[in-house]
Amino acid sequence: MGMIVVASANGRVGIGRAMEILRAGGSALDAVEAGTRLVEDNLEDSSVGTGGLPNLLGDVELDASIMEGKGLRSGAVAGVKGYPNPISIARRVMTDLPHVLLVGAGAERFARESGFHTAELLTEASRQVWESRLAGVLPGWATPADVRYFDEMRKWSQLATDPEKAGGTVNFLAKDRDGTIASAVSTSGWAWKYPGRAGDSPIIGAGNYCDNRYGAAACTGRGEMAIRAATARSVVLYMKLGMSLAEALAEAMRDLEALEDPFWGRMNIVALDRDGNPAAASNYPDTTYIYQTDGMDRYAEEPRLVVTRNGQG
Ligand code: ASP
Repeated sequence: MGMIVVASANGRVGIGRAMEILRAGGSALDAVEAGTRLVEDNLEDSSVGTGGLPNLLGDVELDASIMEGKGLRSGAVAGVKGYPNPISIARRVMTDLPHVLLVGAGAERFARESGFHTAELLTEASRQVWESRLAGVLPGWATPADVRYFDEMRKWSQLATDPEKAGGTVNFLAKDRDGTIASAVSTSGWAWKYPGRAGDSPIIGAGNYCDNRYGAAACTGRGEMAIRAATARSVVLYMKLGMSLAEALAEAMRDLEALEDPFWGRMNIVALDRDGNPAAASNYPDTTYIYQTDGMDRYAEEPRLVVTRNGQG
Protein backbone atom coordinates (compact mmCIF):
# COMPACT_ATOMS: atom_id res chain seq x y z
CA MET A 1 0.00 0.00 0.00
CA GLY A 2 1.35 3.45 -0.91
CA MET A 3 0.40 6.75 0.62
CA ILE A 4 -2.82 7.11 2.59
CA VAL A 5 -4.72 9.49 4.86
CA VAL A 6 -7.30 8.17 7.36
CA ALA A 7 -9.59 10.38 9.44
CA SER A 8 -12.67 10.51 11.59
CA ALA A 9 -15.67 11.48 9.44
CA ASN A 10 -15.49 15.16 10.44
CA GLY A 11 -12.08 15.22 8.74
CA ARG A 12 -13.87 15.53 5.37
CA VAL A 13 -12.96 19.21 5.15
CA GLY A 14 -9.25 18.44 5.50
CA ILE A 15 -8.54 15.06 3.93
CA GLY A 16 -8.16 16.37 0.37
CA ARG A 17 -5.56 18.91 1.46
CA ALA A 18 -3.71 16.27 3.48
CA MET A 19 -3.53 13.99 0.41
CA GLU A 20 -2.36 16.88 -1.80
CA ILE A 21 0.55 17.41 0.57
CA LEU A 22 1.52 13.73 0.43
CA ARG A 23 1.29 13.68 -3.35
CA ALA A 24 3.56 16.71 -3.55
CA GLY A 25 6.16 14.79 -1.56
CA GLY A 26 5.28 16.33 1.82
CA SER A 27 5.68 14.43 5.07
CA ALA A 28 2.97 12.54 6.93
CA LEU A 29 3.47 15.05 9.74
CA ASP A 30 2.74 17.99 7.40
CA ALA A 31 -0.31 16.16 6.04
CA VAL A 32 -1.94 15.39 9.40
CA GLU A 33 -1.22 18.88 10.71
CA ALA A 34 -2.71 20.59 7.65
CA GLY A 35 -5.79 18.37 7.62
CA THR A 36 -6.38 18.97 11.31
CA ARG A 37 -6.03 22.74 10.97
CA LEU A 38 -8.84 22.84 8.43
CA VAL A 39 -11.14 21.08 10.89
CA GLU A 40 -10.01 23.40 13.71
CA ASP A 41 -10.95 26.35 11.47
CA ASN A 42 -14.30 24.86 10.45
CA LEU A 43 -16.92 26.91 12.30
CA GLU A 44 -19.56 24.24 11.62
CA ASP A 45 -17.68 21.75 13.79
CA SER A 46 -18.69 22.33 17.39
CA SER A 47 -16.16 19.90 18.85
CA VAL A 48 -12.83 21.10 17.47
CA GLY A 49 -11.04 24.47 17.44
CA THR A 50 -12.95 27.67 16.74
CA GLY A 51 -16.66 27.11 17.29
CA GLY A 52 -16.01 24.31 19.80
CA LEU A 53 -18.46 24.07 22.67
CA PRO A 54 -17.05 25.59 25.86
CA ASN A 55 -16.40 24.31 29.37
CA LEU A 56 -18.77 24.74 32.30
CA LEU A 57 -17.87 28.42 32.63
CA GLY A 58 -18.26 29.23 28.93
CA ASP A 59 -14.53 29.20 28.06
CA VAL A 60 -13.38 27.20 25.03
CA GLU A 61 -10.41 25.07 26.12
CA LEU A 62 -8.58 23.10 23.43
CA ASP A 63 -6.50 19.89 23.59
CA ALA A 64 -4.33 18.47 20.79
CA SER A 65 -1.46 16.10 20.12
CA ILE A 66 0.73 15.04 17.24
CA MET A 67 3.07 12.06 16.86
CA GLU A 68 5.55 10.77 14.30
CA GLY A 69 6.04 7.03 14.03
CA LYS A 70 9.70 7.26 13.13
CA GLY A 71 11.49 7.78 16.44
CA LEU A 72 8.17 8.16 18.33
CA ARG A 73 8.50 11.92 18.60
CA SER A 74 5.42 13.63 19.98
CA GLY A 75 4.06 16.94 21.22
CA ALA A 76 0.83 17.94 22.91
CA VAL A 77 -1.05 20.81 24.54
CA ALA A 78 -4.02 20.76 26.89
CA GLY A 79 -6.45 23.36 28.18
CA VAL A 80 -5.30 26.05 25.74
CA LYS A 81 -7.51 29.14 25.52
CA GLY A 82 -7.47 31.79 22.80
CA TYR A 83 -5.34 30.00 20.17
CA PRO A 84 -7.29 28.55 17.24
CA ASN A 85 -4.79 25.94 16.01
CA PRO A 86 -3.56 23.88 18.97
CA ILE A 87 -2.30 21.12 16.64
CA SER A 88 0.40 23.49 15.35
CA ILE A 89 1.38 24.48 18.89
CA ALA A 90 1.63 20.77 19.73
CA ARG A 91 3.97 20.29 16.77
CA ARG A 92 6.17 23.13 17.99
CA VAL A 93 6.28 21.57 21.47
CA MET A 94 7.55 18.43 19.74
CA THR A 95 10.17 20.15 17.62
CA ASP A 96 11.29 23.08 19.80
CA LEU A 97 11.16 21.88 23.39
CA PRO A 98 12.58 18.94 25.32
CA HIS A 99 9.02 18.23 26.48
CA VAL A 100 5.96 16.37 25.25
CA LEU A 101 3.01 18.10 26.96
CA LEU A 102 2.34 21.71 27.96
CA VAL A 103 -0.86 22.73 29.71
CA GLY A 104 -2.90 25.91 30.25
CA ALA A 105 -1.02 29.14 30.85
CA GLY A 106 2.36 27.57 30.01
CA ALA A 107 1.09 26.33 26.68
CA GLU A 108 -0.38 29.76 25.92
CA ARG A 109 2.88 31.48 26.87
CA PHE A 110 4.79 29.13 24.55
CA ALA A 111 2.27 29.77 21.74
CA ARG A 112 2.74 33.53 22.14
CA GLU A 113 6.53 33.22 22.16
CA SER A 114 6.33 31.01 19.07
CA GLY A 115 4.39 33.68 17.19
CA PHE A 116 0.95 32.06 17.04
CA HIS A 117 -1.98 34.44 16.72
CA THR A 118 -4.87 34.60 19.16
CA ALA A 119 -8.56 34.65 18.23
CA GLU A 120 -12.00 34.51 19.85
CA LEU A 121 -12.88 30.81 19.84
CA LEU A 122 -16.39 31.05 21.25
CA THR A 123 -18.74 31.61 18.34
CA GLU A 124 -22.17 33.12 18.88
CA ALA A 125 -23.75 29.76 17.94
CA SER A 126 -21.70 27.87 20.56
CA ARG A 127 -22.33 30.56 23.17
CA GLN A 128 -26.05 30.22 22.60
CA VAL A 129 -25.96 26.43 22.95
CA TRP A 130 -23.96 26.78 26.18
CA GLU A 131 -26.37 29.36 27.55
CA SER A 132 -29.50 27.44 26.58
CA ARG A 133 -28.20 24.14 27.98
CA LEU A 134 -26.89 25.47 31.27
CA ALA A 135 -29.13 28.41 32.09
CA GLY A 136 -32.25 27.30 33.89
CA VAL A 137 -31.24 23.65 34.05
CA LEU A 138 -28.59 24.13 36.69
CA PRO A 139 -29.32 27.66 37.88
CA GLY A 140 -27.13 27.46 40.96
CA TRP A 141 -23.99 26.57 39.08
CA ALA A 142 -22.24 29.87 39.39
CA THR A 143 -18.91 28.43 40.46
CA PRO A 144 -16.99 25.30 39.51
CA ALA A 145 -17.04 24.17 43.15
CA ASP A 146 -20.68 23.22 42.63
CA VAL A 147 -19.56 20.36 40.45
CA ARG A 148 -18.32 18.40 43.45
CA TYR A 149 -21.64 16.68 44.08
CA PHE A 150 -21.86 13.37 42.34
CA ASP A 151 -25.57 13.54 41.54
CA GLU A 152 -25.04 16.92 39.95
CA MET A 153 -22.13 15.48 38.03
CA ARG A 154 -24.54 12.90 36.67
CA LYS A 155 -26.94 15.60 35.49
CA TRP A 156 -24.02 17.43 34.00
CA SER A 157 -22.91 14.29 32.19
CA GLN A 158 -26.35 13.77 30.75
CA LEU A 159 -26.37 17.32 29.50
CA ALA A 160 -23.00 16.80 27.92
CA THR A 161 -23.86 13.61 26.12
CA ASP A 162 -27.29 14.58 24.87
CA PRO A 163 -28.15 14.89 21.18
CA GLU A 164 -26.71 18.40 21.09
CA LYS A 165 -23.58 16.48 20.04
CA ALA A 166 -21.58 17.70 22.95
CA GLY A 167 -18.65 15.39 22.20
CA GLY A 168 -16.40 15.10 19.22
CA THR A 169 -12.78 15.27 18.15
CA VAL A 170 -10.88 14.99 14.90
CA ASN A 171 -8.36 12.23 14.16
CA PHE A 172 -5.92 12.20 11.23
CA LEU A 173 -3.46 9.42 10.40
CA ALA A 174 -1.21 9.47 7.34
CA LYS A 175 1.52 7.42 5.73
CA ASP A 176 3.89 9.24 3.38
CA ARG A 177 6.11 8.33 0.44
CA ASP A 178 8.97 7.38 2.78
CA GLY A 179 6.73 5.02 4.72
CA THR A 180 6.61 7.27 7.78
CA ILE A 181 3.33 7.35 9.67
CA ALA A 182 2.06 10.36 11.64
CA SER A 183 -1.05 10.95 13.73
CA ALA A 184 -2.86 14.06 14.92
CA VAL A 185 -5.79 14.60 17.29
CA SER A 186 -7.55 17.87 18.16
CA THR A 187 -10.63 18.67 20.23
CA SER A 188 -12.48 21.18 22.36
CA GLY A 189 -13.24 18.20 24.60
CA TRP A 190 -16.37 17.23 26.39
CA ALA A 191 -18.78 20.18 26.34
CA TRP A 192 -19.40 21.73 29.77
CA LYS A 193 -16.34 19.95 31.13
CA TYR A 194 -14.93 21.00 34.47
CA PRO A 195 -12.45 23.83 33.84
CA GLY A 196 -8.96 22.39 33.39
CA ARG A 197 -10.17 18.92 32.48
CA ALA A 198 -7.91 17.27 29.87
CA GLY A 199 -9.28 14.36 27.86
CA ASP A 200 -7.49 11.62 25.95
CA SER A 201 -6.67 13.74 22.90
CA PRO A 202 -3.49 15.34 24.33
CA ILE A 203 -2.41 12.17 26.13
CA ILE A 204 0.04 10.12 24.06
CA GLY A 205 -0.97 6.48 24.42
CA ALA A 206 -4.58 7.29 25.29
CA GLY A 207 -6.06 9.23 22.35
CA ASN A 208 -3.09 9.10 20.00
CA TYR A 209 -0.28 6.67 19.23
CA CYS A 210 1.85 5.91 16.23
CA ASP A 211 4.85 3.69 15.54
CA ASN A 212 6.19 3.06 12.02
CA ARG A 213 7.04 -0.51 12.96
CA TYR A 214 3.47 -1.53 13.85
CA GLY A 215 0.89 1.11 12.90
CA ALA A 216 -1.13 3.95 14.38
CA ALA A 217 -4.39 4.60 16.21
CA ALA A 218 -6.38 7.59 17.43
CA CYS A 219 -9.61 7.93 19.40
CA THR A 220 -12.73 9.99 19.69
CA GLY A 221 -15.39 9.52 22.36
CA ARG A 222 -15.31 9.55 26.13
CA GLY A 223 -11.70 10.46 26.79
CA GLU A 224 -11.60 9.28 30.37
CA MET A 225 -12.18 5.73 29.12
CA ALA A 226 -9.36 5.91 26.57
CA ILE A 227 -7.02 7.30 29.24
CA ARG A 228 -7.84 4.52 31.72
CA ALA A 229 -7.42 1.76 29.13
CA ALA A 230 -4.52 3.35 27.18
CA THR A 231 -6.60 2.66 24.10
CA ALA A 232 -4.52 4.06 21.20
CA ARG A 233 -1.32 2.47 22.48
CA SER A 234 -3.16 -0.80 23.08
CA VAL A 235 -4.23 -1.05 19.43
CA VAL A 236 -0.64 -0.55 18.28
CA LEU A 237 0.73 -2.91 20.95
CA TYR A 238 -1.72 -5.65 19.96
CA MET A 239 -0.49 -5.34 16.38
CA LYS A 240 3.09 -5.58 17.65
CA LEU A 241 2.10 -8.79 19.40
CA GLY A 242 0.90 -10.23 16.11
CA MET A 243 -2.82 -9.45 15.92
CA SER A 244 -4.35 -8.25 12.68
CA LEU A 245 -5.62 -4.68 12.56
CA ALA A 246 -9.25 -5.82 13.02
CA GLU A 247 -8.33 -8.09 15.95
CA ALA A 248 -6.29 -5.34 17.60
CA LEU A 249 -9.18 -2.88 17.32
CA ALA A 250 -11.67 -5.40 18.73
CA GLU A 251 -9.36 -6.32 21.61
CA ALA A 252 -8.82 -2.66 22.55
CA MET A 253 -12.59 -2.13 22.52
CA ARG A 254 -13.10 -5.21 24.70
CA ASP A 255 -10.55 -3.86 27.20
CA LEU A 256 -13.01 -1.05 27.95
CA GLU A 257 -15.48 -3.54 29.42
CA ALA A 258 -13.37 -3.76 32.57
CA LEU A 259 -13.99 -0.10 33.34
CA GLU A 260 -16.55 0.64 36.00
CA ASP A 261 -17.94 3.90 34.77
CA PRO A 262 -21.29 5.51 35.53
CA PHE A 263 -20.64 7.82 32.60
CA TRP A 264 -19.96 4.96 30.16
CA GLY A 265 -20.06 6.39 26.67
CA ARG A 266 -18.95 6.27 23.12
CA MET A 267 -15.54 5.08 22.02
CA ASN A 268 -14.36 5.27 18.43
CA ILE A 269 -10.94 4.37 17.08
CA VAL A 270 -9.37 4.93 13.66
CA ALA A 271 -6.25 2.93 12.85
CA LEU A 272 -3.66 2.00 10.26
CA ASP A 273 -1.45 -1.07 10.20
CA ARG A 274 2.21 -0.76 9.30
CA ASP A 275 1.47 -1.48 5.65
CA GLY A 276 -0.97 1.40 5.49
CA ASN A 277 -4.23 -0.56 5.56
CA PRO A 278 -7.00 1.44 7.28
CA ALA A 279 -9.79 0.33 9.65
CA ALA A 280 -11.92 1.80 12.42
CA ALA A 281 -14.07 0.60 15.29
CA SER A 282 -16.86 1.95 17.46
CA ASN A 283 -19.03 0.72 20.29
CA TYR A 284 -22.03 2.37 18.60
CA PRO A 285 -23.64 1.33 15.31
CA ASP A 286 -23.90 3.54 12.24
CA THR A 287 -20.63 5.40 12.62
CA THR A 288 -18.20 5.88 9.77
CA TYR A 289 -14.64 6.93 9.04
CA ILE A 290 -12.95 8.15 5.89
CA TYR A 291 -9.74 7.37 4.03
CA GLN A 292 -8.05 8.28 0.77
CA THR A 293 -5.09 6.60 -0.90
CA ASP A 294 -2.93 8.31 -3.50
CA GLY A 295 -4.70 6.27 -6.17
CA MET A 296 -8.15 7.65 -5.25
CA ASP A 297 -9.64 10.92 -6.60
CA ARG A 298 -11.77 11.38 -3.55
CA TYR A 299 -12.06 9.95 -0.06
CA ALA A 300 -14.14 6.86 0.67
CA GLU A 301 -16.47 6.75 3.67
CA GLU A 302 -16.76 3.32 5.30
CA PRO A 303 -18.64 1.87 8.26
CA ARG A 304 -16.66 1.18 11.41
CA LEU A 305 -16.35 -2.28 12.86
CA VAL A 306 -18.93 -2.37 15.66
CA VAL A 307 -17.81 -3.89 18.94
CA THR A 308 -20.62 -3.60 21.45
CA ARG A 309 -20.23 -3.56 25.19
CA ASN A 310 -20.78 -7.30 25.62
CA GLY A 311 -17.97 -7.99 23.21
CA GLN A 312 -19.96 -8.89 20.13
CA GLY A 313 -18.11 -7.77 17.05
N1 ASP B 1 -12.30 12.44 23.22
C1 ASP B 1 -12.74 13.77 23.51
C2 ASP B 1 -12.47 14.08 24.94
O1 ASP B 1 -12.72 13.24 25.78
C3 ASP B 1 -14.19 14.06 23.24
C4 ASP B 1 -14.86 13.31 22.12
O2 ASP B 1 -14.20 12.84 21.21
O3 ASP B 1 -16.11 13.19 22.16
O4 ASP B 1 -12.07 15.18 25.21
